Amino acid sequence: MAETEKRIAILGDIHANLEALQAVMEDARQQGVNEYNCVGDIVGYNANPQECVDIVRAHCTAVVRGNHDHYCSGERSLADFQPNAAIAIEWTHRQLDGDSAAWLSSLPLSKNLFQYSFSLVHGTLDMPDQWGYVFDAVDAGAHFAYQTTPVCFHGHTHVPAVFEKVGSRVDRYAAPEPGMRVSLSFGHKYFINVGSVGQPRDGIPKASYAIYEPRSRIIEFRRVDFDIKAAADKIRRAGLPQRLADRLEIGR
Ligand code: ZN
Repeated sequence: MAETEKRIAILGDIHANLEALQAVMEDARQQGVNEYNCVGDIVGYNANPQECVDIVRAHCTAVVRGNHDHYCSGERSLADFQPNAAIAIEWTHRQLDGDSAAWLSSLPLSKNLFQYSFSLVHGTLDMPDQWGYVFDAVDAGAHFAYQTTPVCFHGHTHVPAVFEKVGSRVDRYAAPEPGMRVSLSFGHKYFINVGSVGQPRDGIPKASYAIYEPRSRIIEFRRVDFDIKAAADKIRRAGLPQRLADRLEIGR
């Protein structure tokens, strides 16, 4: 009997957006996904942190810790955060039960999935606890020095992207279009940003995630409609900053 092809969903920057996460889980199911992994920031910004933690814990094989997971799960200084983010982190901290907070705190900063030859990190592998942002090939170059697997998935900027290293050269692909499929070449290294499920910032107000097929070495970028109004209304009702609701409508 033919072995079932692994289809692995990589989810990131869910940020407590239950409507977006449910829409993505349903899309992934329809796409025949049979494994889920997460590059962090399950909580923060949106109104359903506990529910999103529960779904990720129930479905994801490997999960790494994002900066919001870190700061929402304990008493920590928020001096480096924008005011709206800090307000959301304090609010989220009050919503999470103790077991969920402890679980978020215990997540590793990076994870190697040797069986598939890829790794996961929220920001970068050069200093995963500093949560640096990778927007261009120069930023990606610092990261690639620490990437031992052919592929590494990440998030953090909320903007889907493909960085490719061939020899000593690092290039950034044009922004992945919804539905774009990238075929990976042997001997090259890839640093793939899967975009954000719960707060996309590339101007496309749809949940973003990726599906990876390790055998065919193809990555597909997917965008999924979700009930933006419901998610935004919950943010407003919770007393979270208005801007966090408004930005969902424009994907910024
Ligand atoms: Zn994030």
